[in-house]
Amino acid sequence: MLKDATLLRQAALIGAEWIEAAGAGIAVTNPATGALIGHVPDLGATETEAAIAAAEAAQGVWAARTAKERSAILRRWYDLIVANADDVARILTMEQGKPLAEAKGEILYGASFIEWFAEEARRIYGDVIPGHAPDKRIVVIKQPIGVVAAITPWNFPNAMITRKAGPALAAGCAMVLKPASQTPFSAIALAVLAERAGLPAGLFSVITGSARAIGGVMTASDKVRKLTFTGSTEVGIELMRQSAPTVKKLALELGGNAPFIVFDDADLDAAVEGAIVSKFRNNGQTCVCANRIYVQAGVYDVFAAKLAARLATLKVGNGLDEDTVFGPLIDVHAVAKVEEHIADATAKGAQVAMGGKRHALGGTFFQPTVLTGVTQDMAIAREETFGPVAPLFRFDTDAGVVAMANDTEFGLASYFYTRDLARAWKVGEQLEYGMVGINTGLISTAEAPFGGIKSSGLGREGSRYGIEEFTEIKYLCFGGI
Ligand code: ADP
Repeated sequence: MLKDATLLRQAALIGAEWIEAAGAGIAVTNPATGALIGHVPDLGATETEAAIAAAEAAQGVWAARTAKERSAILRRWYDLIVANADDVARILTMEQGKPLAEAKGEILYGASFIEWFAEEARRIYGDVIPGHAPDKRIVVIKQPIGVVAAITPWNFPNAMITRKAGPALAAGCAMVLKPASQTPFSAIALAVLAERAGLPAGLFSVITGSARAIGGVMTASDKVRKLTFTGSTEVGIELMRQSAPTVKKLALELGGNAPFIVFDDADLDAAVEGAIVSKFRNNGQTCVCANRIYVQAGVYDVFAAKLAARLATLKVGNGLDEDTVFGPLIDVHAVAKVEEHIADATAKGAQVAMGGKRHALGGTFFQPTVLTGVTQDMAIAREETFGPVAPLFRFDTDAGVVAMANDTEFGLASYFYTRDLARAWKVGEQLEYGMVGINTGLISTAEAPFGGIKSSGLGREGSRYGIEEFTEIKYLCFGGI
């Protein structure tokens, strides 16, 4: 039960207007049980245009306020999210499936971006550049980019929104958001709390409905100056194409295929814990999840045994049950992809060291799985699995494993475990990834720049770099001095 039932609102927010679903529209279900949670309205082009117009109307006034005033409102939003964290986490677990403790972790992690960018709002500094002529002076200022459109996925229904909305609003932009249709209630709860925090109407609209129709209007609009998207590479490329005619700025957080390397000098117990955190967080459904685990030959068998033994102690179940560590997968397509990857790997010679099948709980539950004898020619080496499968590859040399790790179109997160300082530096520099975890499986934090290279995307979220993404540089040339 929620302490505050008004946080589960079956409505979308367009400018100042709440549009109620009234029992129709898109049905949202709990992936653990299939039970109906409620409906959100099925909106499209007209409402998207209205939200963009409201954003445009509100943005100039918002940008003209002092950074301190914007910061204070964002801080109130942060405080309200934290004060209501139990309820917002419960809503998240109901629609997404992750265990409550993990959902609560996401809410606090998500809120930390609002807090961080509330602080950063006051530090959007410009520059004074020595002039090129005696009578000239050069000044650089940073201004909000304007109206921003955001499209977010279901795997982090809260944090993928706050990571975008926090810096956008802090910089003086307005945001029109389309959340994933599987998990809209987390987005709507954020909008309810933003309204309570005193965020002026129009600055944060949440439109639920057809991705194609909403995305089409967002990308075509010349009022929208930036699109920020987290999701698949496939859809990211499509949005990039659609944004070309209006030359929009883009931030794209796309797929990953993270390598996780265990060298033979690693602290193996720490590496096992890191692998579990990195591989199995959100049941393997994060874009920074370890997708390929490379273990050096000398420690391969011990690592495999330790990993399987540790995993066997962790419970699969409904995320609302206290002791659950692994929830269900998001839907039947996710289960099918996991099964395909396991079938492909075993057909090509991999062995199932544990799991490998759908869980006895039924539905979209899947057994935590460890595969050994995995090689680069298997589908799992190329594609993101997005499920609870740990494939263990064997390697011999540093150069060999770095080459294998980099042999992918993706470049988001990577991880490795070693106790050798020189190796840590060298491998850290050689991995072609936007992020490298060294002796840790957990790298995401508001203080650090999150983002990828190659087909994993454009731009960075979080950190002091994250707010720059929502500003334009303007140069003022003062002459006749
Ligand atoms: P995932 O594989 O994580 O579901 P998707 O890229 O399919 O990733 O979806 C991420 C977000 O992008 C969701 O909010 C989804 O509704 C939206 N989306 C999917 N297809 C399109 C599209 N053609 N145009 C705009 N948004 C889309």
